[in-house]
Amino acid sequence: MVSETDCLFCRIVAKEIPAEIVYETDRTLAFRDVNPQAPTHALVIPKDHYRDAAALAAADHGLADEVLRTAHAVAEQEGVAGSGYRMVFNTGPGAGQTVFHVHAHVLGGRGLTWPPG
Ligand code: 5GP
Ligand code: ZN
Repeated sequence: MVSETDCLFCRIVAKEIPAEIVYETDRTLAFRDVNPQAPTHALVIPKDHYRDAAALAAADHGLADEVLRTAHAVAEQEGVAGSGYRMVFNTGPGAGQTVFHVHAHVLGGRGLTWPPG
C-alpha cells in the first residue's frame, strides 16, 4: 500500500477519518463529497497514493482504468448513468485541486452546464 500519513484521503482509506463510502473495490474507494455540488457528488480514488491524475496514469499498471470503471459503477448505482454525469479530475492548483491524492469527482442528478467555471 502506497500511503502518506498527512494525506486526507489516505486517512479516509485507513478509516482514520470517517466518510460515507458508496462503493469499494480491492484497489479503489468511492465516498460522498463533504461539500456536494450536485445531488450526486462522489469522489473516486485509488487506495494507493498518487498526487494527481498524471502521476496515476504514468504509473501505468491498470489502476487508472479501474478508477474510471468504479466511477461509472457509482453513476449506475446512483441512478445518474442514463441521464448523464460528469467525471472531473482537477489537476493542479490552477484547476482547483485542493487535495493532492488523485480523485475523480462524479457529478450528476442535475443539468450540468458547459464550459465549467
Ligand atoms: P479538489 O478541489 O481537490 O478537486 O476536490 C477536493 C474535494 O474534497 C472537494 O470537493 C471537497 O469538498 C472534498 N473534501 C475535502 N475534505 C473532505 C473530507 O474530509 N471528506 C470528504 N468526504 N470530502 C472532502
Ligand atoms: Zn493519499
